Amino acid sequence: MAKKGNVAKSILNLTCPRCQTGSLFETSSFAFDKPFDMPKYCSHCNQNYWPEPGFYYGAMFIGYIFTAFFSLGFVMIIHWVFKVGLIASFVALLAVLGLFFVYIFRLARSIWIHLNIKYDPSQAE
Ligand SMILES: [Zn+2]
Repeated sequence: MAKKGNVAKSILNLTCPRCQTGSLFETSSFAFDKPFDMPKYCSHCNQNYWPEPGFYYGAMFIGYIFTAFFSLGFVMIIHWVFKVGLIASFVALLAVLGLFFVYIFRLARSIWIHLNIKYDPSQAE
């Protein structure tokens, strides 16, 4: 098993913030099967993934900010560095966002729950 305690790694791997072992989502990000379904509790340490109703509203703002800056950076680089036309740059952006939409959604939720629930080494084994 990978070393535990690395929050950035846990966020990117979409694992439980408390034990960093259980998965936040039931299916793979690129399976396109049940893309937005989360279990109610962690399968490993029983951490509640839904501490209160509307818990993930905050994740929407993280997703929005992340997508906005990513889009800006993506179009700027592809347009100015690679000299691609503006329309083609936006088409490429839409394609990339379409491909990574589910992962970005999950990443925002992962960041949000990691901000709210701390890692607990005693739960990791
Ligand atoms: Zn857990």
